[in-house]
Order: sequence, then structure tokens, then C-alpha cells
Amino acid sequence: SKTIAGEKGTASERSFVMIKPDGVSRQLVGKIISRFEERGYKLVAVKSLTPSEALAKEHYSDLSARPFYPGLVKYITSGTPVVAMVWEGKDVIKQGRRIVGATNPQDADPGSVRGQYAVSVGRNLIHASDAFDSATKEIGLWFAPEELSDYEPIAWPWVMADN
Ligand code: UDP
Ligand code: MG
Repeated sequence: SKTIAGEKGTASERSFVMIKPDGVSRQLVGKIISRFEERGYKLVAVKSLTPSEALAKEHYSDLSARPFYPGLVKYITSGTPVVAMVWEGKDVIKQGRRIVGATNPQDADPGSVRGQYAVSVGRNLIHASDAFDSATKEIGLWFAPEELSDYEPIAWPWVMADN
């Protein structure tokens, strides 16, 4: 059955993607959104906000013991907004991670967002869910169910067809 993160491994799979404050400040929002849009993924939700400290901490709760965690929370809650999104489509979680690139931009493929636009692990521009369970957690954390749209882009059958 369909959950907020869709059905794993189908065209209804969803990922939480967030352009971080450096991406917004550097005016890379359009370029980043275009990568997902042009690939054929469906924009299911989008909003711009400055997250509360509580939201940033919960989003990164798995990393709370790491030395960079306080700085990471400060970065995300800087006051420059983030752009929070949900993207849908076949394999969007894994493919979204490929579009984003490795955590450390120094290791990121030059064709990825981080590999093209970032140099520092602490200012790596963008977040994307790393697994179905984290996508479920993150979509639920950042969006209310009624903020997620259900519609079919005109090219959807062409983009998502298997045979
Ligand atoms: N981060 C950092 N220093 C590190 C590792 C991670 O500042 O040594 C930050 C960076 O912004 C990264 C985020 O913490 O994107 C979350 O880390 P994770 O390992 O989950 O990387 P991601 O999933 O974003 O690739
Ligand atoms: Mg992560």
C-alpha cells in the first residue's frame, strides 16, 4: 500500500530533498530543481522556510553524537532559508543521491550538484534522503500529508514506462 514515501522500488517512490542555506544564498535553486525536473521526476511538494532548531536537530538526529553536529544545526538554521522538497519517481532515492553527489564535494562526481558547485563538506548545498526509511521519516517531519500533491505530469507515462 502507498505510504508518504510511496511504494519502495516503484514509480511512486518519494525522496526528501532540501537545498541548504548556501544553495539558496548562492541562487542555485533553479539550477538544482532543473536537474530533478529535467530527469523526469515529479515535484510533489516544495516550500521555503528557515527551520527551527528543533526541526534541524530532529532531521539530523542520527548524527547527534558527531563533532560537526552543532555546527551543522547552526548552518541549517542560519536564517537564510532552505528549500524543502519531495520528489517522486522510479528509484528517486538512489538516483537523487547520485544527482546530489558524495557528502564531501571533494569526492563528488563533477557532474553532480556537489561536484559542480561545492568544495567544502560543511557547505555542500543540498540534502537528499539516503534510504526508504529515512525518506519516510524526513517527508513526515517536514511536510503535512495535505502538502503532498497527487497529479500526473504530462510526460509521466513516457518517462516512467518500463517496456
Ligand atoms: N557534515 C559535515 N562534516 C562531516 C560530515 C557531514 O559538516 O564531516 C554535514 C554535511 O552538511 C552533510 C551532513 O552533515 O551533508 C549530513 O551528513 P551525512 O553523512 O548524512 O551526509 P549526506 O547524507 O548529506 O551526504
Ligand atoms: Mg545523510
